[in-house]
Amino acid sequence: MSDDQPQPSRGLVSRIGRKLKKTKTTPDQRRNTVDNTTKRQPQRLQKRNASQPFPDRQEGINELGERTYSIWSETSTLVDEVRRDHTDMIHGLAHHGSFDSLIEGTRTIRLEEDEEVTEAQMRRIGRCEARFKKVSSDVWQRIASFLNPADAAILAVTSKTLLEKLGLAPLDALTLPENQRYRISFLNHLDRHLPNHLLCYPCATYHRRFSRDEKLKADFINNPLYLCPKVFSTYLPRMRLTQGRELPYSFIQLATRHAHSRHHGIHADRLSRRWKDASGWSHQSRYTIHDGRLLMRIRSQIFAPPCLTPTAERMLLYDREDYIPFFSVCKHWQNGELMRLCKCALSHVPGPHQSTLDRIRESPNLKAWVVKPGFVARQCDECRPARRCPECPTEYLIEITMAEDKNDPVCRFKHVLVVTRWSDLGDGSSPTSSPEYCAINGVKVDEGYDSFSHVGRRAVAGIFESKVSGCIPGQRMISLNPKNEKLGEAGHGWY
Ligand SMILES: [Zn+2]
Ligand SMILES: [Zn+2]
Ligand SMILES: [Zn+2]
Repeated sequence: MSDDQPQPSRGLVSRIGRKLKKTKTTPDQRRNTVDNTTKRQPQRLQKRNASQPFPDRQEGINELGERTYSIWSETSTLVDEVRRDHTDMIHGLAHHGSFDSLIEGTRTIRLEEDEEVTEAQMRRIGRCEARFKKVSSDVWQRIASFLNPADAAILAVTSKTLLEKLGLAPLDALTLPENQRYRISFLNHLDRHLPNHLLCYPCATYHRRFSRDEKLKADFINNPLYLCPKVFSTYLPRMRLTQGRELPYSFIQLATRHAHSRHHGIHADRLSRRWKDASGWSHQSRYTIHDGRLLMRIRSQIFAPPCLTPTAERMLLYDREDYIPFFSVCKHWQNGELMRLCKCALSHVPGPHQSTLDRIRESPNLKAWVVKPGFVARQCDECRPARRCPECPTEYLIEITMAEDKNDPVCRFKHVLVVTRWSDLGDGSSPTSSPEYCAINGVKVDEGYDSFSHVGRRAVAGIFESKVSGCIPGQRMISLNPKNEKLGEAGHGWY
């Protein structure tokens, strides 16, 4: 304030000084000074701009060293107007700090809401508790006897009153080896409260995770996610993807748990991989979450030469060690028409382009010369449609397309056999009770799985592609095993 206020004595001295200077200067000198000032002006302005925010503090001050104020003027204080910096204002509107604080904010709001709801319901709960107390322990135990061990344990831990009435017996029952699947079902309810732990199915216990940033590696045995005491005595739940590639069940858990929060698991996209077999097949896997379940797509392809003999077809399709296809299949691949359709698709690969001279030499086969085979493979009505396995949520699409072979300098573009598999891997609840996962791996569960009754308006392939690529495959979908015969290895002539 004090710097900006005009001081009368200093103003008077400066005015007298200026008058004295005016009298001493000649017209030539004056011209020089004017020239000098005009020349220096830009420099002075620059200096002022750099050091002083307000260029002329004497402006608006009268001869008496006072400021004149109009009642209509906007400035009404003695302090110079502070210029508003609009960029500062815009930056002030921006969000500062991490977005975690926003999440925390919503969490607190939600918690408050919950508390409000709890408060509103507290009286009702209190009345219910009083009624529960009136019912004798024998009646409660009778009610619990109609429930399965998991539900009885959940009932026991619902409230303090019920725990008093039922005792620890329902919880003790879960420790019995025959009740292990109920124990897993009970522990699944705690999943959202334990982000740093992962449920181990062989132990039926939560183990602490080594890291929150797990990566799916081909050698998952030597890269465990947690320290399990039964690591050498039990079988780690997993499913076969292709030859030499498996998916541990823990990664299905992590991907489905990601719905709770990013600390609970990993995003489904991070499971996607590309790899190539020694057999020449190349594979590409992709995952997404839909309705709390993990959906998978594996696209496998290999260069398909034309006019293959039956033996060459088998060499192309099967692993000769365990006689399983090189591409990804569900457990029921032998029961349907999958392998016959693959062989049918291979038969549609057109032969190599022949020169006119070669064709004339081959005469009298003139018909084949007139009807020139094109380079595009046309599949028949048998092998073109997508197929759905009637016993599990798996769908297949067999295609013959073109691909570039960078290693072949003569023939760059070749036909490839592409087998795409879509599967629903379930909700990650358990490798022994999740209906979709059990159906895919041929594990028998109480309810069973009827694939076509579970298909709603859209099949797995349609849901997956609409989420991931935005376009649904145009092929119609029919059953992989229309006659529903289960002849297994002996029948169907799959080999
Ligand atoms: Zn364990
Ligand atoms: Zn065909
Ligand atoms: Zn199947």
